[in-house]
Amino acid sequence: MGMYENVKHQFDKAADLMGLDDGVRKILSITNTEIVVHFPVKLDNGTVEVFTGYRVQHNNALGPYKGGLRYHATVDIDAARALATWMTWKTSLAGLPYGGAKGGIQLDPKKYSNSELERITRRYTFALGDNIGPEHDIPAPDVNTTAQMMAWIADTYMSTKPPAERSKNQHVVTGKPVGSGGLEGRDRATGFGVVINIKEWAKLRGKSLRGMRFIVQGFGNVGYWTSHFLVQEGAVLIAVQDATGTIYNSKGINPEKLNEHAAPNYTGVKGFSGAESILSEHFFGLECDFIVPAALGNQITGENAGEIKASLVAEGANGPLGDGADEILLAKGVDIIPDILCNSGGVIASYFEWLQNRNGEIWYMDEVLSKLEARLIKSFDRVVKKAAEKKTDWRTAAYVEAIGRIELAYKQRGIFP
Ligand code: NAD
Repeated sequence: MGMYENVKHQFDKAADLMGLDDGVRKILSITNTEIVVHFPVKLDNGTVEVFTGYRVQHNNALGPYKGGLRYHATVDIDAARALATWMTWKTSLAGLPYGGAKGGIQLDPKKYSNSELERITRRYTFALGDNIGPEHDIPAPDVNTTAQMMAWIADTYMSTKPPAERSKNQHVVTGKPVGSGGLEGRDRATGFGVVINIKEWAKLRGKSLRGMRFIVQGFGNVGYWTSHFLVQEGAVLIAVQDATGTIYNSKGINPEKLNEHAAPNYTGVKGFSGAESILSEHFFGLECDFIVPAALGNQITGENAGEIKASLVAEGANGPLGDGADEILLAKGVDIIPDILCNSGGVIASYFEWLQNRNGEIWYMDEVLSKLEARLIKSFDRVVKKAAEKKTDWRTAAYVEAIGRIELAYKQRGIFP
């Protein structure tokens, strides 16, 4: 099943359960706008390469479109549609005044120099033109895109505006570096939020995180920060898998040392001296208490879900479970904290950054993390309550909550004309 098909399957299940209005169902089953841009960039060796970029805007009933940009070989229209749709549910569930969008460029950033990535990012921004904007569609970082790239996007977008309007456009993008309008704590917000969700799960199940063993797929922004906060809580990281390999240490892996090894120049976890290398196919079946997928979509499927021994899958990534994995895991009694709840800390912090820029304020770390925590605990609680009320799983309950808010907006406002 493709990612977009997976999203539609999840949507249909929730829409049936809640008896969603037929008209709203039709509207939410499509994407509002799909933009594909082809643009040329001069490489360091003087040759010209043409790149393909996407931006899909799913729905904006609740406010401006919001969602990340991904630089990866798997970026295509199907992935952008799926990820944009998930953003609509995520922002709605979090109670934010946003809709959903997603985009990116089909490329492997490892193949390009920093100056080439700067020209690619700036030219992509220029090609999108006013299809993005601080009150219209606000991108953010995702796989392989960084705070530095967000700063280039802001600078390019602002540079195309008349001088008097430039500074009013800083919030065209979030996830910028602190110092260029970025928010303290935005870098760690997604991982921090994943851990708040896992803490709430442990409370609900009457367990303590201290001594619990966990594994993480993906050791980028989300995987690293999730590991950092979990180890602070006393949990033990025993295995990590990323695009370069799979490593294991039953005594525990130090996430700070692993990050020092893995982060520079996309080096990855391969070759880390504090763990042994194991076969990638053994990863999800490892004996552990919980799993955090924090890489790409469709990683746990009908093929490998049966091997899972953990009692929780906390979805740091978007769409990591596909092709019947939910059904297999739920039948085994495994809890699943769904992506639109579990990784929503990132977009909530992006909202804080947007407010900070829009209102000319400066927010500090303590305030950001405590506001984030309060919102996430509320969302977790609402999802668990809705699941009990509807006698359904947490993913479907999260969808019912998210879709219900959008349905209400359509019912109150009606359909133009
Ligand atoms: P990142 O680029 O910082 O890290 C991605 C990680 O995934 C890297 O470690 C990479 O090696 C690994 N990876 C790539 N292909 C892989 C493969 N085939 N097998 C195993 N690992 C692989 O990206 P990120 O920002 O940490 O995003 C990770 C996931 O979290 C994505 O699904 C993204 O949509 C989601 N997410 C990110 C944010 C955010 O704020 N960055 C917010 C919400 C959700």
